[in-house]
Amino acid sequence: MDYETLLDEAYQTVKPVDVCERFEIIKVSGHHEGIRTIISNFSQVAACMRRPAAHIMKFLSKELASSAEISRDRLLLSRKLASKDINAKIEKYANSFVLCKACKKPDTELMDEANKTFLKCLACGNKQEIHKI
Ligand SMILES: [Zn+2]
Repeated sequence: MDYETLLDEAYQTVKPVDVCERFEIIKVSGHHEGIRTIISNFSQVAACMRRPAAHIMKFLSKELASSAEISRDRLLLSRKLASKDINAKIEKYANSFVLCKACKKPDTELMDEANKTFLKCLACGNKQEIHKI
């Protein structure tokens, strides 16, 4: 095995698994820092849900009554929160903003049209207005 092969293999093993093969709601992993909650895999959570991290952050901030900011791959919340509560809100987000209301498939996209936001399904063609965050 030559040096370059070794490097390739090292690269493979450290490569972050930040892109899921398909839609998946993954559990947050994080810790508390004083009164704050740090979610360390937030960019991965967003990537697996196929939604911008900033959009999910806005939702969580409102639902959890906590100010929030994104720092690199992490989400910083200004309150001490249990991960199960955060996971429950992420599931709620997926149900509201990712899964099609008609066929429940996750192959959807958000569209802004005439000052409204719609969830458009690429699988069945359903288009439904959703609430703005
Ligand atoms: Zn659908």
